[in-house]
Amino acid sequence: MAGALDAAEEEVLRYARLLYERGHVTLLSGNVSVRVGDVVILTPSSRPKPLLSRESLVWMSLDGSVVRGYLKPTSEWRMHIAIYRRRPDVGAVVHTHNVLPTLLAHRINLALLSESEAYLGSRVAVVPYFKPGSGELADAVASALEGCDVAVLRRHGVVAVGRDLADAVNKVEALADAALATLYDWLLRLACGRRARRARAACQSVAYVLTRRQRGITSSV
Ligand SMILES: [Zn+2]
Repeated sequence: MAGALDAAEEEVLRYARLLYERGHVTLLSGNVSVRVGDVVILTPSSRPKPLLSRESLVWMSLDGSVVRGYLKPTSEWRMHIAIYRRRPDVGAVVHTHNVLPTLLAHRINLALLSESEAYLGSRVAVVPYFKPGSGELADAVASALEGCDVAVLRRHGVVAVGRDLADAVNKVEALADAALATLYDWLLRLACGRRARRARAACQSVAYVLTRRQRGITSSV
């Protein structure tokens, strides 16, 4: 058990750094957790993702009490715990602030990329806006994820679950790809139609998103 917990902490650190380097989270936003037995290991609140150490991680039990760590857990700890309580098959939860999937939400067309459809299934849940960190948000997201593995939180971000962190992070990336494909598809339709000038303006927004996404593209887990 101790070996599994040690390995889980290292995984949290590596994937938190990867998510930052690939532009899925900002320096202080977004959070990651893994479950090992009855222990949930979470990233702390308000600490730079690339600079986290094992000592900065927080261990919680499934009743929401802190069992180890000197920092405050992520402000979204209620959401992580609520998901694990409803989904015993889930071993990892990732919450990101991806801009494009958040803006597109229910308009994301998973059918454009067979790869995204294969990893995400045919449905991504869309959760209405609730105050970040609230119990209402935790309940709404946990309910939504009873029927699928990925949810877009309106005006906020994305939550993905998986059997482990590689699985959950892969779903975040599959959703980001599907969102980008949806936007490209829309732009191509515009560019081929009578609204080409509007399409060029929209391309500038795409360039911004791609610049963020490609930050640290050479890093690997
Ligand atoms: Zn958030």
